[in-house]
Amino acid sequence: MPLPLAIPDAMPKSALSPGQIRSLLELTDPEGVAALRREARQAANLHCGHTVFFRGIIEFSNVCNCDCYYCGIRRSNRKLTRYQLTRAEILRQAVWCARQGFGSVILQSGERRDRSFVNFVTTAVQAIKQATRSPLLPDGLGITLCVGEQSREAYQRFFDAGCHRYLLRIETRSPTLFKRWHPADQTLENRLNCLTHLRSIGYQVGTGVMIGAPWQTTADLAADIAWFREQDVDMIGMGPYIPHHAAPLAACAVDPPAARLERALTMIAVVRLVLRDVNIAATTALQALAPLGREQGLACGANVIMPQVTSPGCRKDYTLYDTKPCEDETETGFRKALAGRIRGMGLMVGYNRWGDAPHVRIRQARREGAA
Ligand code: SF4
Repeated sequence: MPLPLAIPDAMPKSALSPGQIRSLLELTDPEGVAALRREARQAANLHCGHTVFFRGIIEFSNVCNCDCYYCGIRRSNRKLTRYQLTRAEILRQAVWCARQGFGSVILQSGERRDRSFVNFVTTAVQAIKQATRSPLLPDGLGITLCVGEQSREAYQRFFDAGCHRYLLRIETRSPTLFKRWHPADQTLENRLNCLTHLRSIGYQVGTGVMIGAPWQTTADLAADIAWFREQDVDMIGMGPYIPHHAAPLAACAVDPPAARLERALTMIAVVRLVLRDVNIAATTALQALAPLGREQGLACGANVIMPQVTSPGCRKDYTLYDTKPCEDETETGFRKALAGRIRGMGLMVGYNRWGDAPHVRIRQARREGAA
């Protein structure tokens, strides 16, 4: 069934205008939505293949110097127990991931920019690289960092240590929304500058937005997608907004959880159709709104899942939002069941590979051709 829209059949979805993107985001009739999501899954199969990659996510510290108005680990939340894993603990979890054949890990934490933090992250990346080289992974685990806004020098050090992907979510491209969601000392301009640094250093760059957050419209989300395209990003990590009781935005009205889940799934589908060959994560926030939310994300065109491998004792304290699932995803039964559900969708898990987005190769070839 064709999509019920005034978009010419011959027009590639990658060329849609923000207005046309918005019309896709606003689809409501069940048949139209189902057709959109089916087409998005087909696009993922065509451009990225039938493989889903696991990235073990290690949330190594919930200490954060920022105060984002939507986040549960913001510095103003004095009731939270703060933790910082040791290098040895991070290494143990990373080696465990390599032994399971995950191929990549994500190191994520709250934002700190002091020298000792930058040194710590640099040496953790180096240690993971050294400890996980094997005949199956000659270059060790692929490493994605997600530690926020840093100086160009810090980004360069992480890159030189062996990290090759960086996720820095923009949360929204709207300057008005950004200001309403953040204190005055956190600026959209600095985040954009950071993304420019990351790209110039040579990282594979990922970004993403919240979906269904206070005051956000479908026009805002359509503009976000058009901006992803303009930025030529390699990876997208985005999920439904879920309030945290200790964050100021929790007092603002938003759509019910089911509506936010649906909007997030449609957003994944539209991003897949417009960006085609990037990696898109089915994030934990989807799972927080529905037990099989991540699998629903895959059905809409996502191709990456980030099993939670943070040391079990700390997991409950990395609460960016309420109701975050804290299951032990290192358990064999859990992983087997997840892999089985993925196979049941006609997809497969890509073991012992970094799983870089096809977009990276295409982007680099385009750049070399232009040189
Ligand atoms: S969203 Fe990130 S930077 Fe903002 S308060 Fe939370 S952990 Fe810190």
